[in-house]
This record gives sequence, structure tokens and C-alpha cells, in this order.
Amino acid sequence: MILLERLKPEKIALLEAAIRRLSSKDPLFLQFQKQLAWAKSGYVGEKRVDREWIDMKIQFPHILLHGLMAENDQGFQHQLDTLFLSQHFVFVLEIKYYSGFIEFNEQTHQCIKKNFDGVVESYSNPIDQVRRHRSFVRQQLLKLGIDLPVECAVVFSNPKSILERVDVLDVHLFHVTGLRYKLSKMLEKYKMQKIFSEKELMSIGYHFLGMHHIKPWKISLDRKNLRTGVLCSECNFRETMKYKYGRWICMKCGNDNRVAILEALNDYRLLWNDNISNREFREFTGVESKDAASRILRSLGFKSVGTFKDKRYIIPSELKIL
Ligand SMILES: [Zn+2]
Repeated sequence: MILLERLKPEKIALLEAAIRRLSSKDPLFLQFQKQLAWAKSGYVGEKRVDREWIDMKIQFPHILLHGLMAENDQGFQHQLDTLFLSQHFVFVLEIKYYSGFIEFNEQTHQCIKKNFDGVVESYSNPIDQVRRHRSFVRQQLLKLGIDLPVECAVVFSNPKSILERVDVLDVHLFHVTGLRYKLSKMLEKYKMQKIFSEKELMSIGYHFLGMHHIKPWKISLDRKNLRTGVLCSECNFRETMKYKYGRWICMKCGNDNRVAILEALNDYRLLWNDNISNREFREFTGVESKDAASRILRSLGFKSVGTFKDKRYIIPSELKIL
């Protein structure tokens, strides 16, 4: 069973919001675009491996935790792409969506990626990353008094990744399609080992789930460089919409969109603050009348805190049109 579902990283939403509101001439614009492309491809790769787990229809008791974020005893973060728990063995997965030729060097501990266009890039070594996660998982199991084999792997989820020169013995390295075979081999190897019940397996799963804590991803930028206003999606978020007769209208293309105000407030939540006052709302959206601003905010159905003068509206993370 899946005890922890993978969530779309908030980093993606945050970068998308920042890109929408930065000038394309801002030096951060390109940097954020690259970071966004990287984060999105990583997420696509992880979802690809998640689908493989579902497709396998595993016939023995097991627990899956996707995207587990936990701290070790020293206060350092571990982000486990997938943690598989069973009564026979544990499997820790690091997922990479690299394309191109990938080479690992066990002497220098480097991971080199040669792109198809000839560009060579160096990455932090995923083998060392997953080894670090493995020792964290082992420590946790020992704390629970469980001595279970812990296997680990770097799984490549992009069909355009070509693994070269792999001389690693303690970490499995394979393409996502090999997951089924690897798992069956592990079960064959460890099936005699079954030291606890299914109920105990669940409590181990809950032990790890209890450690899960998402650390908010912070973005470093000067808010003064961000464009305010309700932006028009039809104009690729480059035009500002005006509030007229109860509707938000784009002055350039005439788009009249009820969702635009929610998109704008979601950007405000991600980039400025998760609550907003009447004055801040007027400054952000360009609505001049205090009464109109009150009406709009009330119509959105947000919860509010404070009294009349210092009233603040809480912008929920799941915005829906009423
Ligand atoms: Zn427009």
C-alpha cells in the first residue's frame, strides 16, 4: 500500500509565480526558468517510476512512501524519492531523469553527464546520495530494533539516459523498466527472512511517516522587482487586468476571466504573504475603492482574522471559485 503519496513540489508553483511576475530582462528570469525546467523534469521522472510500482501489482505485504522528507539525528535533511518497506527487505530509491551519456567514477565520486549536443556537465553523485539515505534508513530500523537488509538504487526514468562505465557494486543502477526484475530478484534472495508480522510492518511504515516534514522551499529575490496586479493568462501573463463592473477584464485582448483574481492571489500567497489586508489588496490589484476591495475579498469566501480596521484575509493554498 502507498502510505505517502507523492505531491507536486511547491517549488514548481513558486518558480512559476516568480517567472510570471519578473521582467524577462531580469537576470533571475532565465535562472528561474532553468530551475523550473529541472524541477519539472525531476517530478515527471518520479511520477514515471510511481506508475511502474502501480503496474507491478506486488503480491506480498509492502509499504511505499514517495517523497519522504525527514531529518537525521544531526538535523540534516534526507529526501527519499521512494522508500519501499516489506517484511523481507527494504529498498531505497533515488530517481534521476537525466538524458545523455552518464558516467560514474568511484575514485573521484563524480557523476559526469555528456549531453547529445556534446556539452559535458558534472553533477553531485546520486550514488553517494542514496548511500547516505541507506545509512539513515538503517539507523532508523536499528532504533526500532530491526535488522533488515536495506538495498538501494539509482533509477533512471528518462528513456534517453545512457549509462556508461558503471563499476558500482553496492548500489543498483538501472532504467525504470528494470524495477520489476530487480524487485523479484530481491524477493528471491530475502524471502526466507521474515522476522516480524504484517502489523509490525505497518508500525515501521508509520514510524517513517511520522518523521515526514516538508521544509518550505525559499526563493531569494527582491519583491520590488516583481510586477503586481491581476495578470491575463491569454496574454501570457504580460498584461494587467482591470476590475470593471464586477469583472476582471484585460485591456489588451478583452479577456474576461473569473479565475484570474485567484491566480493573482495565489501568486501573492507564494511570493509575498499568505494573508492580505484591504489596503495591501488595493495596492496589489489596483482596485481603488476600499468598498469594492472589501466586496471582492468577501466574495472569495476567505477566512479572516482581526477586527474591522486590522482585518486580514487568509489566502488558502487550495483556491477555488465559489
Ligand atoms: Zn489579455
